[in-house]
Amino acid sequence: MLRQFFIALSQSNMARRFVTRFPPARITSRQFISGETIDECVSVVKDLNARGISVLMNEVGEYVTTREEAQQAAQSFQKIAYRIAEDKLGASISIKPSFLGLGFGKEFFYENMASLVQVAYDLDIPIEMDMEESKDVDTTLAVYYRLLKKFGDRIHIAIAIQVYLHRTQADVQKLIHAGGNIRLVKGAYNESPAIALQNHDAVNQACMMYMRTFLSEEVRKKGCFLALGSHDPVLIEWLLAEADRMGVDKESFEIQMLQGVRQNEQQRLADMGYQVRIYVPYGIAWYPYFMRRLAERPANALLLARSLVSG
Ligand SMILES: Cc1cc2nc3c(=O)[nH]c(=O)nc-3n(C[C@H](O)[C@H](O)[C@H](O)COP(=O)(O)OP(=O)(O)OC[C@H]3O[C@@H](n4cnc5c(N)ncnc54)[C@H](O)[C@@H]3O)c2cc1C
Repeated sequence: MLRQFFIALSQSNMARRFVTRFPPARITSRQFISGETIDECVSVVKDLNARGISVLMNEVGEYVTTREEAQQAAQSFQKIAYRIAEDKLGASISIKPSFLGLGFGKEFFYENMASLVQVAYDLDIPIEMDMEESKDVDTTLAVYYRLLKKFGDRIHIAIAIQVYLHRTQADVQKLIHAGGNIRLVKGAYNESPAIALQNHDAVNQACMMYMRTFLSEEVRKKGCFLALGSHDPVLIEWLLAEADRMGVDKESFEIQMLQGVRQNEQQRLADMGYQVRIYVPYGIAWYPYFMRRLAERPANALLLARSLVSG
């Protein structure tokens, strides 16, 4: 219930106006968002890098309303790529397809993405694509495969795949066939039972099955790299134990988490020699991202409630 409430709030303009103008809410959001400028983000990245942790840099934003906005977003991400190269940051770039113009059709979206990925390719910066609502999965995957074919010979290009979708089993097979790289996530959107698993244990079971597939020698030989994007201790411990059991070394997979979530665990894993990468967002359009973080966990929502009450 609470999850659906916050996901609905993330789409409400009235709630956005209220929350973003309320200083305590802005302060609370900083647990999950590095700031509004790229400099604030870079400072968080440098701190994480110094502690042996890599980063996924992301300028927050989604569902642009004009092509010009989508092109501006691509230019903003190009600036992130130049900044990563200049400052020699241990970071890759994560992109939300709707922000780069997925809503304007496959061709426009591809061209806009390709303009960004070309810059990343020249600078040798890895790229990851987020996955959004189920209605957008076909277009996102089609564009991912084209980018992988054109630029995947040199840079790491990965795509988020949502475990909760019924279609994922088939998508995973295609991804392996194409030698793609996966960020395996449970899935963050409200999807109907016809489209997605609704049960936590069923999602975890499916996630373990996909992780085992990506850890297998056969799939790793195809060049496919596994990143698990999750804070779930059950999944993380399972991955570490299974990799150990299968004789997969620590460099052959990665654990990704979000800024502000389970920070002690992020450090513990990095100190144990595992590859850890943290999704660090920044930007002025932080509201829907913040609401989705609250939707994931009642304790996060309490943080906001306390800030609203204490004013
Ligand atoms: C790097 C990254 C990238 C992502 N990209 C996408 C994407 O492109 N598309 C998409 O749909 N979704 C994405 N997600 C979100 C993802 O789909 C899930 O909605 C989100 O990660 C919550 O699921 P979970 O696996 O972390 O565990 P949950 O099911 O939320 O939690 C399971 C358990 O984890 C522990 N836990 C979780 N949060 C905390 C906390 N704050 N403190 C302490 N313990 C905690 C608790 O024990 C909890 O019971 C991404 C997530 C990450 C980490």
